[in-house]
Amino acid sequence: MNRIAVVPGDGIGTEVITQGLRVLSALAPDIETEHFDLGAERYLRDGTTMPPDVMRRFGSEFSAVLLGALGDPRVPSNVHAKDILLGSRFELDLYINFRPCRLLDARYCPLKDRVESDVDFVVFRENTEGLYTGVGGQFKRGTADEVAMEQEINTRKGVERIIRAAFVWARENGRKKVCMSDKANAMRHGHDLWQRVFKLVAGEYPEIAASHLYVDVLAMRLVQAPQDFEVIVTNNLFGDIITDIGAALQGGIGLAASGNLNPGKAALFEPVHGSAPDIAGKGIANPLASVLTVGMLLAYLGRPELERRVQGAVQRCLKAGQVTRELGGTLSTREATDAVLEAL
Ligand code: ATP
Repeated sequence: MNRIAVVPGDGIGTEVITQGLRVLSALAPDIETEHFDLGAERYLRDGTTMPPDVMRRFGSEFSAVLLGALGDPRVPSNVHAKDILLGSRFELDLYINFRPCRLLDARYCPLKDRVESDVDFVVFRENTEGLYTGVGGQFKRGTADEVAMEQEINTRKGVERIIRAAFVWARENGRKKVCMSDKANAMRHGHDLWQRVFKLVAGEYPEIAASHLYVDVLAMRLVQAPQDFEVIVTNNLFGDIITDIGAALQGGIGLAASGNLNPGKAALFEPVHGSAPDIAGKGIANPLASVLTVGMLLAYLGRPELERRVQGAVQRCLKAGQVTRELGGTLSTREATDAVLEAL
């Protein structure tokens, strides 16, 4: 089954996904795509956010979903984004947020005196538990005695499967180091579970060096010595923050791609950046995160050589300065994609 569901989304999401699809059809014309009219426009038109039958089809009829960004100033509640993106993550049980952080051109790294090989790591962020489940409550809301609680969920099953996914990927991709990050010194219950499960799973992968860092130390070390890291595994909240450090190290969110995965079941790929209402409709959004996301999708569909070609082409464009304005170039969204297609 080589069918991809496409949800272009809102703002620059639609603009960059259109460009990503040009690269997809150039490299893999056999892959079928079906577009879904979901996003802010649809919500404003008829109140639909995420129809249950569409969610079911995403899980059963497609190899993967390709999603642009969601978010529109006309929908301040962001309800459509929550239903579509968070709904998919939970309903399809996409427990892995897979975030490669690879520097393709040292000029775009904010750290001084760095070479490309210094930034080449992957973050496995737990995507279905932690502090982002909405479990909690408010008591005496709006009064001076208000209490607000946000509960962190860590299940044995959830912790084990994300840690195992990190080791499996490391083994399959010839990586030799996995670092788990938590805050077990301050969060003595949930993160003690992470510590114990990490030791157990690491024991099954003796050829891989397993290490641990508290997340505050990891944040510091990523900036001081990114070359020390190959695979990082962490919880939902810490992963959210650490992957943004990673995106900055690789040259900014205009270059960051991500996958939400449940191996063998379902997958959703998206550029990391948002809908950027400030530049939407101007034709200046950087399409490279979307193009790299398409590369990641191709690797997931069993064509890693095509992902390598995509990365090579993007790298050549970066080095030649054939980029959009926010990276110092002059090209439009479409012209930057033309340059990638030419490099391919
Ligand atoms: P969200 O709230 O979902 O994160 P957002 O679009 O406001 O959405 P970011 O994705 O963090 O937030 O983007 C912040 C800013 O970075 C944007 O407003 C835009 O100016 C710039 N930006 C983001 N993505 C791109 C891109 N692909 N090309 C060029 N500029 C971008």
